[in-house]
Formats: sequence, C-alpha cells, structure tokens
Amino acid sequence: MSTAVINVNELWKSYPMGKTRLPVLKGIALRIDAGEYVSIVGSSGSGKSTLLNVLGLLDQFDSGSFSLSGHDVHGLSDRQAAHLRNQYIGFVFQSFHLIGHKSALENVQLPLQYRRMRNRERRDRAIQVLERVGLADRMHHLPSELSGGQKQRVAIARALVTEPSLLLADEPTGALDSVTSSAIMDLMEALVDEGRTLIVVTHELEIAARTHRVVTLKDGVVERDDRSRSLP
Ligand code: ADP
Ligand code: MG
Repeated sequence: MSTAVINVNELWKSYPMGKTRLPVLKGIALRIDAGEYVSIVGSSGSGKSTLLNVLGLLDQFDSGSFSLSGHDVHGLSDRQAAHLRNQYIGFVFQSFHLIGHKSALENVQLPLQYRRMRNRERRDRAIQVLERVGLADRMHHLPSELSGGQKQRVAIARALVTEPSLLLADEPTGALDSVTSSAIMDLMEALVDEGRTLIVVTHELEIAARTHRVVTLKDGVVERDDRSRSLP
C-alpha cells in the first residue's frame, strides 16, 4: 500500500482584507502519495501559491485537516512547523530566494545550521549537492555572479541538502528561458526517479505535461485531478 505524504481535507484559508477576510482556499481535498510527480495548475489568483505555502508549512491555514507524512499539522507551533519542514521538505521558488551576500556554498549550507553537525560535515555535504547540480565550480560565487539557471541550481541544491522526501516548487522555471527551464526540469525529475515526491506549481503547459498527475485549481477548490495513463 502506498503512503500518503500529503493528506488534506476541507482545507480553508483566508487572508485579512480590511475588516473582513478574503477566502482563498475553499475546501481543498488532496491526497498525494510517496513518489508522485504532480503539477498544480490554474489561472492566476486561483490559490496555487497559497496552497503550496500551506503544504510546505510556510503558512498557516484556517480550518480543515492536513497531515504531512502522518504528522498532524493542525495547531503546530512555529518551532514545531520549522522542525517538520526542515526534516521533510525542500522548497524551490520562482525568484530563487537566495541570500545575496552569501556565496553559493554558504546558501546551500543554511538549512543544515538547524542540525547538530560539524562545520566540516556541513560543508562537505553542501559541496556534494552542488556537484550533483553541476555547480561545484561556482561554489564561491555570489548569486549576483550567476545566471538565472545557475541560481536555480543553487536553490535546488539548498532544497536538497537536507535530503527531503518532499520537494515543492512554485513556478521554478518562471524566470528562465525555455532551454534552461528544460534542464532544470530534467534535474528535478532525476529527484523523482530517486523516489522523492515532487509537486510543482506552474502555468506552463509544457511543464504540466511532463508530470504524472495534473491538479487544476479554480477559485480555491480542486476543479480537476487528471492522472496520465502512462504511469508506471
Ligand atoms: P496563484 O499562485 O494561483 O496566482 P495566490 O495563491 O498567489 O494565487 O493568490 C490567491 C489569492 O490570494 C489572490 O487573490 C491574491 O491576491 C490573494 N493573496 C495571496 N497572498 C496574499 C497575502 N499575503 N495577503 C492577501 N492576499 C493574498
Ligand atoms: Mg502563484
């Protein structure tokens, strides 16, 4: 039997708007199993980023149930959420979110600072993942000295350095040209081949077409959930 990495039911989330609240997620139900490669699509404003941020424990939700790899997420403190996130999740953003005054190597080591680990081991692990994404020769460069594709490779290395089982990516190729985009998706798909779960938010049909399951959001609910027939 497969295990649910994500199990969400009746998930609601709103943002404060003046004296009221703007509902954005309106009863999402979604189960994603280990090893799945899923895209989340839908028009701008449909709630894709909001959902991904909630799934990635970067943001809270109002009501409903959410378990992450069997852990009930409701009512966790910030500290508990940060711990779970560091243990299970790697996040990749459209605009990379690298720290500008730190080198690639330092950026990649950051998630390991929460772990008890010798400096030497942190550094060795960061170098290993930078090798894996093909950037070992750029490890001492600052983000501003790297191309968009290289920055995203650093961000992927940073997401990977904790060995997360779940990778979440919000428009990871949105700032890249099509050749670079394709190379970045190849890299992320190699991680799925290793058994990791990958959820990618995208508005690009070519990206969604590469995934095994396409979840369409419309106005805060799951409108469609299509699995490709070519699944193994
Ligand atoms: P998508 O990623 O599908 O384009 P978002 O999840 O970013 O959609 O946004 C969904 C809705 O929530 C939009 O109407 C957006 O304006 C609103 N929204 C997103 N983030 C915030 C926020 N931090 N505060 C208030 N409203 C927000
Ligand atoms: Mg978005």
